[in-house]
Amino acid sequence: MEKIWLCLAHMSEAGEEMKYIREAFDTNWVVPLGPNVNGFEQDLEQLCGHDKHVVALASGTSAIHLALIMLGVTRGDEVICQSMTFSASANPIVYQGATPVFVDSERDSWNMDPNLLEEAVKQSIARTGQKPKAIIPVYLYGMPAYIDDIMDVARRYEIPVIEDSAEGFGSNWRGQMVGTFGDYGIMSFNGNKMITTSGGGALICPSIEAKKRVMFYATQAREPLPYYLHKEIGYNYRMSNICAGIGRGQMTILDQHLAHHRMMCDFYVKHLADIDGITVHVNPDERFDSNYWLNTILVDPAKTGGVTYDDLRLALDAAGIESRPLWKPMHTQPVFSGAPAVVNGVSEDLFAHGLCLPSGPMVKEADAHRIVATIRQALR
Ligand SMILES: *Cc1c(COP(=O)(O)O)cnc(C)c1O
Repeated sequence: MEKIWLCLAHMSEAGEEMKYIREAFDTNWVVPLGPNVNGFEQDLEQLCGHDKHVVALASGTSAIHLALIMLGVTRGDEVICQSMTFSASANPIVYQGATPVFVDSERDSWNMDPNLLEEAVKQSIARTGQKPKAIIPVYLYGMPAYIDDIMDVARRYEIPVIEDSAEGFGSNWRGQMVGTFGDYGIMSFNGNKMITTSGGGALICPSIEAKKRVMFYATQAREPLPYYLHKEIGYNYRMSNICAGIGRGQMTILDQHLAHHRMMCDFYVKHLADIDGITVHVNPDERFDSNYWLNTILVDPAKTGGVTYDDLRLALDAAGIESRPLWKPMHTQPVFSGAPAVVNGVSEDLFAHGLCLPSGPMVKEADAHRIVATIRQALR
């Protein structure tokens, strides 16, 4: 039987990606700039709306790094970051010599708890005598956060927000796409994300001036002179014209991908919701519109007769189906053991009970039936 994966890259049937790549070869734009990069950025700006400006970059991680640089984050600063996330949300804080301060989640969206955020801001000010330099909320598995409340705290204390929307491409909060609420927003086009450029990312910027400055840092901070003059440290973070060609092709099937991930959510709800002890994570109310990048379940062994999320993971694995525990909170990671954290137990509880299920466009209907049948079997 064929292996079923969580979220594999999936190209358009029309071969749009190859068309743009071939164009790049034919015109010899095989460099980290060019018509595909410009075209992809235009596509992304159109999607964002709200007068945002987008820079295509080498990865989502480099986008977070450049946003921190734009906000002047440096040695000795503190930056608040959601604890329940992938390490890439927090690593760039350390690249800048700053300290991450981790904030736990609320139960509805699994994302940053706005009340704990305010508590973390107060603690940070008491500890360092200055405000944290930035706040990084995350849209875990595509689920929007209580971003209005997070922005409210951020505005009251005048702290900039970098939205890590790497997993939230195409998700909306009150009809507005996530990544467009804060000062900066980041996107990821890694191979396993909602759309891919094989590897890549983008930074959503608040102005054309900010976009130009980000492009300056992303291309080695070269001053505009005929010879190479450098007054600042730069980075080689621009997206290649080949990768951007894949991205332009992928934009033609974005709606198809979003529809598939949401359809998978409906399928899991329909086929798992009646099982005692299994909860499918869905939009908490109508303000949330998740892209369901990865569909997730919580398993309560007290109600499943002792069957845990990890028993299900092993059963799925034995049946050739990939599943994965939820992100292990950053405040429990050995690499961040010294970092301050404001916790309420929610992220640790989610990590102890949750599982990600296959959700990408390569998961066909027969696969979906095989997945729920395997779960039901394991619970018997
Ligand atoms: C994937 C991901 C990133 C990093 O994106 P890359 O393009 O892989 O560098 C950052 N944050 C979160 C939450 C992610 O899932």
